[in-house]
Amino acid sequence: MAKHILEMLKEGVVLSDGGMILEARWRGYDTPTAIVAHPEAIRQVHRDFFHAGSQVLEAVTWFSSRTQLERRFGWGDRVDEVNRMGVQMAVEACGGEAPVGGCLVSTRTGSWVGDPIFDPDDPSSHKRARAEWDEQIEVLVDAGADFLIPETFHRLDEVRLCLECCKKTDLPVMVPMGMTGKTQDGASVAECARALSGDGADIVGLVCNGTPEEMLKLAAEMRNAVDVPVGWQPNGFGPGGKNTRISPDEMAEYALKAAAEGINFIGACCGTGPSHIRAMAEALGIHQESV
Ligand SMILES: [Zn+2]
Repeated sequence: MAKHILEMLKEGVVLSDGGMILEARWRGYDTPTAIVAHPEAIRQVHRDFFHAGSQVLEAVTWFSSRTQLERRFGWGDRVDEVNRMGVQMAVEACGGEAPVGGCLVSTRTGSWVGDPIFDPDDPSSHKRARAEWDEQIEVLVDAGADFLIPETFHRLDEVRLCLECCKKTDLPVMVPMGMTGKTQDGASVAECARALSGDGADIVGLVCNGTPEEMLKLAAEMRNAVDVPVGWQPNGFGPGGKNTRISPDEMAEYALKAAAEGINFIGACCGTGPSHIRAMAEALGIHQESV
């Protein structure tokens, strides 16, 4: 039985996983479709992160609401299957030993395949956005997710709505924002951290979108703004973009800096694989039992 994520955070730094989507893609599998088309491959990516030292796994259910699945793949009727199997693959990969987070994403993400669902100026769109998340959350909870992760939102107003949907469950909620400056609706990282923890987020933080260096500076601003645990999950690319990958040893150094800043939930995103997590685990003194 997995430990409670908030209990783990009380005991010390918790190491999460790396960039599931890109890692799967680099192995030749596109998500979320591969969750059902090649579940063994997705389970293996999770297993490799767990073996490397990830104490928490994040189901790769990003981009898996009804409308997003329908617009991109014609898979609107497979919400249950994709989200359920997404959680199951992560649970199986760690033998149920690590808490598994169920990911949710902005309804504005993927707007290249259709209009964004959430429109800040149209209250009827808020209802539609809630319905998308509610449907996905029900499956994630039923499938055994241990906590919920509305992640990589670029707007504070939208993520607050999603958080409200998540808080209807009994599960802890972590909200890592996808921002390097201000949100599209003008909030700073400190303002986001305060608003979200005020709304009941159990963990706030930052994910993807930035280099380890810039995300560390911003996560420290969040740390100073709130009392709840703060997460830091940067990309594994330097300022030069995708041609400048951060090495595992460099990520390990950043992980130590993040821990020294009082960041509690340490992980990584696009461009980082099990080798990065392994180096970070060693630096942080985390020893994971292998399954
Ligand atoms: Zn990412």
